[in-house]
Amino acid sequence: MNRRSFLKASVTSIAALPLAAGFFSALSKVARAADADLPAIKEADAQAKAFNYCIDAKKAEKAKSPACPARKGKEHAGEFCSGCQLYTKVKGEGKAEMGKCLVIPGVLVYGGGWCNSYSKKMS
Ligand code: SF4
Repeated sequence: MNRRSFLKASVTSIAALPLAAGFFSALSKVARAADADLPAIKEADAQAKAFNYCIDAKKAEKAKSPACPARKGKEHAGEFCSGCQLYTKVKGEGKAEMGKCLVIPGVLVYGGGWCNSYSKKMS
């Protein structure tokens, strides 16, 4: 490759960068929109049962609550999907926050939920 063709190829490549960035940005928006349309997990789902998933882990912290027996215990206090490294927030705030989980694909889990595969997010 001579100097002229090298420069031409370099300029063409650099000029194409914004186009490529725009393409990937648009692709990312489409993917995020698709994620937001995933169905919400239900505790009755087979996957949820397999991982002892509970939608409202806060309830389990109340001593007399029958909710989420697997989540009870001081060793699990403060553990929620929103603090799990396998969780990626997709939408919502507070109690309505939902995200994707690497362990339970195809649905959105609740940020305030929990399962027995919880793994504390590294910050
Ligand atoms: S692996 Fe983490 S994000 Fe997924 S359901 Fe369990 S606690 Fe929630």
